[in-house]
Amino acid sequence: KAQQRKKIFLDGEFVDEADAKVSVFDHGLLYGDGVFEGIRVYGGRVFRLEEHLERLFDSAKAIRLSIPLSLDDLVKTVLECCRQNSLWDGYIRLVVTRGKGDLGLNPASCPKPTLFIIADAIRLYPASVYERGLRLHTAAVRRVSSDALEPAVKSLNYLNNILAKMEAAVSGADESLLLNEQGYVAECTGDNVFAFKHGELVTPPVSAGVLPGITRREILRLAREEGVDAVERNMTRYDLFVADEVFLTGTAAEIVPVVEIDGRTVGTGKPGALTQRLLLRFRALTRTTGPLIYSTGKPAPME
Ligand code: PMP
Repeated sequence: KAQQRKKIFLDGEFVDEADAKVSVFDHGLLYGDGVFEGIRVYGGRVFRLEEHLERLFDSAKAIRLSIPLSLDDLVKTVLECCRQNSLWDGYIRLVVTRGKGDLGLNPASCPKPTLFIIADAIRLYPASVYERGLRLHTAAVRRVSSDALEPAVKSLNYLNNILAKMEAAVSGADESLLLNEQGYVAECTGDNVFAFKHGELVTPPVSAGVLPGITRREILRLAREEGVDAVERNMTRYDLFVADEVFLTGTAAEIVPVVEIDGRTVGTGKPGALTQRLLLRFRALTRTTGPLIYSTGKPAPME
C-alpha cells in the first residue's frame, strides 16, 4: 500500500506536504510575527475546538492580526483537515502569520496573512513519565513580562521558552520552571503548573504572566467538581517545594506529575492521588466531548 500522503491546509487549499511551502519572506519566519494553536484529536473528536479557536482570535486581536477565516469557517476547515488525513487520534497545529512582506519588520509590508493547518500524529510523553513523574529545574531566564510581550498571547515568539527548555537539559532535569520578573512562579516551557496542599489546589493567575491554558481551565473545573478548593493565586518556588503534589497541564502533556524541583522531593516523590484522579477524569472527558470529525464511525484508512 502506498504511504499515506499528508494533506496540509495552506492559504485556502489542501496541498501535499511536499507542496506546503511558505516564503522565506514570511514574517512568521523572519520575525516570529504570528499566532498559533495546538489542539488534540481523541477518538475522532476535536477536544475543546471552539475554546482553542477563541484563544487564537484573542491572540490575533492582541497583535492586530486579522485572521482570514471566520470562526465558523475555521471550525469546518479544521474538521476537514482531519478528514483529509484520516486522523482519529492526533494533534492539530494551526498557525496564522503576518504573511509575506519585505525584509523590514513593519507589518505594513505584508498584505495577506498566511494560514496553515497541520493534522498529524502526536509524539506523546512515554507512559513512564506518568508513572514516575518529572524533575523540574528553575530556569535562570525569567518569563517575559506582560509589559514587553503578553504571555497570554500564544504568539510564534517562543524563544523565551526555548531558552528555558535548554537550561533544563543542561541541568539534567526534564523540564524548566519559569518565574516572572517579580520572582513568582509563572509556568513551564509549554505547560501550566499546579500545586496541591492542605486540600487546596493552586495555580498562578493569568496576571502572573502565563498562557491561559485550555487544560488549566478544565483542571480547575474538574478539581472543583471533585470537591477540591481550586484557586488562582501568586505562588513562590517555596510553595512548590513544600506542596503535597505538583503537576503540569497542557494539550500535549495532559496532566503530568512532578516529583522533584531543584533537588527537593515533592511530597512522597511519587505521583500524587489527586494528580492521578484528575488525569483519569481528564482522559475520560477528552474521549467523550468535542465535535465529531466523522459522521459514521472510524474513517477508512487512506491509500
Ligand atoms: N503555557 C505555555 C507557554 C504553552 O505553550 C502551553 C501549551 N499551549 C500551555 C501553557 C498549556 O496550554 P494548553 O493547556 O492550552 O495547551
